[in-house]
Amino acid sequence: THFGFKDIREEEKETLVGSVFSSVASSYDVMNDAMSLGIHRLWKDHFVSKLDPRGGINILDVAGGTGDIALRMLDHARLKHYDRETKVTILDINPNMLSQGQKRMKQTMYWNTPQLSFQLGNAEMLGTPIEVPPQFSSPSIAPNSKKPYLPPLESKPIESESVDLYTIAFGIRNCTHIDKVLEEAYRVLKPGGVFACLEFGKVSVPLLAELYKQYSFNLIPTLGQLLAGDRDSYQYLIESIERFPTQPEFARMISRAGFHLPNSQVARDLGLPSFPKGSATRGDEDVDGAWEDLTLGIASIWTGIKL
Ligand code: SAM
Repeated sequence: THFGFKDIREEEKETLVGSVFSSVASSYDVMNDAMSLGIHRLWKDHFVSKLDPRGGINILDVAGGTGDIALRMLDHARLKHYDRETKVTILDINPNMLSQGQKRMKQTMYWNTPQLSFQLGNAEMLGTPIEVPPQFSSPSIAPNSKKPYLPPLESKPIESESVDLYTIAFGIRNCTHIDKVLEEAYRVLKPGGVFACLEFGKVSVPLLAELYKQYSFNLIPTLGQLLAGDRDSYQYLIESIERFPTQPEFARMISRAGFHLPNSQVARDLGLPSFPKGSATRGDEDVDGAWEDLTLGIASIWTGIKL
């Protein structure tokens, strides 16, 4: 951080992430389907049923975007466990994504109930509120506006030991300091609380890894151009997937942040969802069974429990 050099570059990254998601916010859901051929829906379904939310718990969905995970959590709790007490807070750094989420949630039964809330916030600093830009902080709209009414966005600090289940889906790789995100997750979770992350991984079969790389580097920016008129944002997204740590590396980061991994006996005894062993290769035996690969590792799920 000498001469503020590192800080400037990091600030730039944050601004870039902001503009990436502002420019994709309205086409975001369509693009997800197009790029993954709809498979992201199955991954998210699996993620949520694995975590099996129930019993009136308090969920914080960080980088929650337009609410894909939140909606599934609430539906799962209600339909599988007759639970209408479980609460989800959708937290995101981007007000455009959140207001897209509000628009969508307005169509659901959870709207205007204590089960659902929205928070503007940064995964790396959950205790520090963000200033809400004026166009999102005012509930009033012009009388002849065709825009739907949306309540103002708010930004409040997330208290320590206030969360039972922390989820982050396809969000952590966009963050500048992954360690800070993990540290904050640890802080806000109650003892016994669970951290769960769904994120792109590295494809485990070498030949398929090469094919997948070709697909993403050639096709995804083009799809972005065609469907959203925005090539650069999608170029950025695939580069961020490349840069993200491998499955065993990320499992170790979670462990270093203080969490117990699901391959540990203590986590199993406490009922943390467990994953089959055997996905780790040589040298990674310490974290074998600590994550679950979905679709050959294109995406993976990691969990950890705070004791
Ligand atoms: N979780 C949603 C899903 O699975 O559909 C949205 C994923 S979207 C690819 C990534 C989200 O991360 C965006 O909404 C973006 O605004 C948000 N994001 C990026 N950096 C963040 C940060 N530091 N803190 C909170 N949210 C962040």
